[in-house]
Amino acid sequence: MDLNKIKEILDKEPGFRLKQIKQAVFDELIGNWAQATTLSLDLRQKLESISPIYELTVEKELTSKDGETTKVLLSAQDGSKIEAVLMRHGSTDLPLTGRSTVCISSQVGCSLGCQFCATGQLGFKRNLSDWEMVEQVLFFAKILKKEQKRVDNVVFMGMGEPFLNYDNVLSAVKIINDQNGLNLGARHISISTCGVVEGIKRFTDEDLQVNLAISLHASNNALRSKLVPLNKKHPIEGILAAVDDYIKKTRRKVMFEYLMIAGVNDSEKDAQELAKLLKRPLCFVNLISFNPIGHSDFKPSSAARIKKFKEILERLGVFVTQRHEFGKEIKGACGQLAGK
Ligand code: SF4
Repeated sequence: MDLNKIKEILDKEPGFRLKQIKQAVFDELIGNWAQATTLSLDLRQKLESISPIYELTVEKELTSKDGETTKVLLSAQDGSKIEAVLMRHGSTDLPLTGRSTVCISSQVGCSLGCQFCATGQLGFKRNLSDWEMVEQVLFFAKILKKEQKRVDNVVFMGMGEPFLNYDNVLSAVKIINDQNGLNLGARHISISTCGVVEGIKRFTDEDLQVNLAISLHASNNALRSKLVPLNKKHPIEGILAAVDDYIKKTRRKVMFEYLMIAGVNDSEKDAQELAKLLKRPLCFVNLISFNPIGHSDFKPSSAARIKKFKEILERLGVFVTQRHEFGKEIKGACGQLAGK
């Protein structure tokens, strides 16, 4: 759907028409314009021919046995494949009973080639449009509506580096946040970057309440440059300087994601080095168990190793959370999305 095209069609219509249209798309979650019965037949036909609501088609939908995670493979009009994931918190052991988070993709493939990531091995195909990102959220909003629930959080942590598709991502954020759009509070939207410093700087000046996360995964440049090749261009010091500036201006917390990979970045020395880097105001670490992907020999750290790592960080004054593992069995967990 192209909101600009729709605004052009509505040129001679009364002012409230756009609101009616947004209500039909975002609240009633209609599947096509024929279902927008508050609009005249003539207008519905015009909208259907000029700007159909959905551009993505569902190729495959998979739900994990415990019912917590649903992954969907979507096909764009040019045949590009992307994946998005719904996580239902509280179906098993999480205290946030009933809440749901949708993880969406921002690009088809990714140019950054992180070693631990299935998307990174695909190479970059193209940026997604703002509407292709919003559609991923709408898709799950429809599923959740049948369960009498709604989307509570949206994270830009799927395929692609959001800050390399900055304008479209920010436009999607605004539609998701818009009172007449999906009406999801900015504090319930998160963007995760592998450290695109120009993006962090632009984001700092946006004056939004959207959350920022940094995929760090290593405590020194030598190791990080191997795991996240972008680090050669944007080393840790530059990222932290941009984050410090972001925190100074926004007073918002920043999450540093750290994948725990056995024998690679999970030693006591790594924990001590990480604590030195991240013992700074409003920063916290989110430990994530590595999720195996086809091409890599990496293995997840043991539960005992993660526990020890967490204890060291906490003892050294760093606030730490640990991510619940969603969707491993359906390859819908962090780093596993490959558009297959
Ligand atoms: Fe791209 Fe993110 Fe995967 Fe790195 S982790 S290759 S930035 S999708």
